[in-house]
Amino acid sequence: MDLLDPQAWWVGVFVFLFAATVGSFLNVVIYRLPIPGKSIVRPRSACPACGALIRWYDNVPILSFLWLRARCRSCRAPISWRYPLVEALTGALAVALWWRFGLSAALGVHFAFSAALVAIAFIDYDHRIIPDEISLPGIAIGFACSFLWEGMWLESLIGLLVGGLGLFLMSWGYALLRGREGMGMGDVKLLGMLGAWLGWRSLLFIALFASLQGVLVSVVLTLAGVKLKPPLPEEWELEEEQRRAAEAAGAAPPAQGAADPEATGAGADGGQEPAVGFLGAAIPFGPFLALAAVEYLFLGPWFYGLLAGQG
Ligand SMILES: [Zn+2]
Repeated sequence: MDLLDPQAWWVGVFVFLFAATVGSFLNVVIYRLPIPGKSIVRPRSACPACGALIRWYDNVPILSFLWLRARCRSCRAPISWRYPLVEALTGALAVALWWRFGLSAALGVHFAFSAALVAIAFIDYDHRIIPDEISLPGIAIGFACSFLWEGMWLESLIGLLVGGLGLFLMSWGYALLRGREGMGMGDVKLLGMLGAWLGWRSLLFIALFASLQGVLVSVVLTLAGVKLKPPLPEEWELEEEQRRAAEAAGAAPPAQGAADPEATGAGADGGQEPAVGFLGAAIPFGPFLALAAVEYLFLGPWFYGLLAGQG
């Protein structure tokens, strides 16, 4: 790619805009996928505050956020900066991948992979879950795509087995030692997916870079006294809470003896128990696995060259 070639710039702009539109769809996935029974394609996007449908000209990636000055056109409720951030991030990722792979099948495949990782990272951050709806098809699609590259399918197969199984054993060992879950099964399936897409050789890099960055960020957050917001409750939890509150209000309190242990159990869940996160810290590990996988696309050859040079 020649930076002095104006045509290259136009291709870059097109790649960015196309990817930012995909990012706009990822926002919908991030918001709707964790809610059971909610469709990703229907209904059309609406303002969560007033329910007004979002018009097509207010749905342009990044730009709409700027010209609406981060507010809903109908009710002036603030729009989260997360939306343009995800769009810009997806756009920037695609441009970086285009720079790395050129206009090729590898660009398309790795962009689809990275887009799935963006959705996974933000959903895990919000809810502390990695949805099977992405990671399980991700394993299958990653393995299928491995046949596009010469001699890759075996690396991919070993990768998904070692990734999934390896982390499962690590997580199990940690739980055995510390008596609590270090990583969720969602992380296990995610690492299986990463192994399927990138091959088993990537797993050392991913485990190392994800752990280092995870530790670094949790140390910085701890020193800075920043507490991550607790995971968002899922809709059924909210409904359950409302139902319970309505029951408590309707029935006479002494008759609700059986509900008492349930209520204290719910309190402990929300307040004292730390959310399952990386090595018991209250930060999710999925975003770091996703980050390390994207880094591998750019730094993997350099890193393994370094290892080979020393060994
Ligand atoms: Zn509104």
